[in-house]
Parts: sequence; C-alpha cells; structure tokens
Amino acid sequence: MKKLFYFFAIAITLLANTTHAQRPGYVLVIHGGAGNITPERITPEKQGLYEQKLTEALTEGEKILASGGNALDAVVAAVQLMEECPLFNAGKGAVFNAEGKNELDASIMDGKTLKAGAVAGVMTIKSPVEAARRVMDSSVHVMMAGRGAEEFARIQGLEMVDPSYFYTDESWQEYLRVKAKIEKDGRKGTVGAVALDQNGNLAAATSTGGMVYKKYGRIGDSPIIGAGTYANNESCAVSCTGHGEYFIRNSVAFDVSARMLYLGETLEKTAGYIINEKLKSMGANGGLIALDKEGNLSMPFNTSGMFRGYVKKGEMPRVFIFR
Ligand code: ASP
Repeated sequence: MKKLFYFFAIAITLLANTTHAQRPGYVLVIHGGAGNITPERITPEKQGLYEQKLTEALTEGEKILASGGNALDAVVAAVQLMEECPLFNAGKGAVFNAEGKNELDASIMDGKTLKAGAVAGVMTIKSPVEAARRVMDSSVHVMMAGRGAEEFARIQGLEMVDPSYFYTDESWQEYLRVKAKIEKDGRKGTVGAVALDQNGNLAAATSTGGMVYKKYGRIGDSPIIGAGTYANNESCAVSCTGHGEYFIRNSVAFDVSARMLYLGETLEKTAGYIINEKLKSMGANGGLIALDKEGNLSMPFNTSGMFRGYVKKGEMPRVFIFR
C-alpha cells in the first residue's frame, strides 16, 4: 500500500514538472504598420527613430510579461507607447480623413475569455486602445462608436483631449499630398501587438487613425473583432494592418485562427497563405503579426515593408522594417 502511495506521489510530481517544463515562457510581437516602406522612402535618421520606438514598445510590454503580468496588459502597454509617438498612424500620429479631421479606431481581445472591446471613429480620446479595453472590461458591449464611445470614455475617467492634440505636421503634409494626388497611399502605419504570457494566455490589440483621406465615418478593420484583431487561447492571437476593406471582407484575423483549428495548419502556413496568396490575389496590400499558444510567431506582409519586432523570454528585442 505504502509502495503504491510512493509510486503515485512520484508519478504526480513528474507529471507536474513536465507540464511546467512545457509551459511557454512569454513572447510579445508588435507592428507599426505595413506599406510602401523602402530604404529610398525613409531616411537613415527616420529609420533609426522607428527602430528605437519599436524597441521601446517591446521593452515596455516585456516588463509586464517578465514580471508575470498578463498578455492583455502587455499589448496595451506596447500599443500605448506607439499611440503616443507621432511616427505611427495611431493616437498622436493619426492620419487625417478627407475632411481634414482625425477619427481613430482601436480594439482588443482576450484569448482566455474571448472577451473583446473596441471603439471606432473617436476624436477626443487620447488612448483609443485604453478605451477599447474599458469597453471590454467595464461595459456589456463589444464595440462603441463616435460620441457615445467618447462619452463612455469620459465617464470612465480616461484622458480626453482636444481634437487638435492629434495634429502633426507630418500627417498634415501627407494628407495634402494624397489630396493633391501626388501620393497614392499614406506612409504611416497602424500599430498592433500580440502577446503570450507566462500563464499561456494570448491577447491582441490594434489601434489606428485608419486610411489617410478616408471618408468621414469610414471604419476599417482595426476595431472589428475577427477582421483586424482576434485572440483565442486555443489557437492564436492576431493583429492586422493594411487595406482595411479587404481585411473586413476576408475576416482575416478570425480566418487565421479558424484555419488553424479546422484544418490543423501551422500558424506560419496559414498566416503566409492568407497574406501572400489569398489577399495578394485580390490586390489587397497589408500584413499581420500573429502568435500561437506555443509561442511560435509569424509576421507576413505583401508590401515592401512593415514596421515590426518581437521579444521572447531570455532574448533581446529584435526589430525589422524592410523585407
Ligand atoms: N487597416 C487600417 C484601416 O484600414 C489601416 C492600416 O493598417 O494602415 O483602417
């Protein structure tokens, strides 16, 4: 009897250790938008600034993951840092719509509970990703738009700003170039983050000013759960960037998760197929970042560049811009 007890005790200890050994560390992946980003279109100084900011965003999110914090807090921290930086098309650096105004969209999803939150077309919320988080945590809704979303954010005590906060000279010049048809697309990118924390939970967040010179009231894929953002602990976490209309029509972020679950495809295969075959064949530009429950990551894009980077437990952050 005693022998049997020892046998079970040892077996249980071994099992617990194995489970622990297999538990993933943490991984954080970010993007700062995909587009016509080539060494010719970006000065070395600018390149350095982008690399620095991407590294800072990774470091900010990593602090949370390394201290045992959760994936949701990490993606918010990384996205917020980029929202505050005028280099990216989110928060402070948001692009202008056709009326010369900034309308911002953001979303977030928790892979553990499948809870999600989003805001769209907001003009006075300093951090749209934080507002998305509040919609998820403190309301019974998933998505709020325009004035209603702003009123909700104000009551929640979030920092509100005058719409002029989002003015940057660079975004304004970009607006004028697109308006004058000197340039077809803007250069600045949407931002996003996906994370896997030490408890095996996945989360995704995306924040954007949308497409430069978009129609007043236009909403892209970024605040739409399943299009620009998706997370499910059973499969993966995804944040997209690119021509939003195509990402909505193809439910891209959900499609990555669905293909993994239904077809048993690897993250790398499914993400690569969607961006480089499915979307490309439709003439849709863009990319995505994704992370699976084992910590495998994928960052495909069919444009000339995508601001992106990742950090894993025990490794230095790595950032990339061009192909
Ligand atoms: N996907 C965003 C939108 O369509 C734009 C971008 O990622 O650059 O609003």
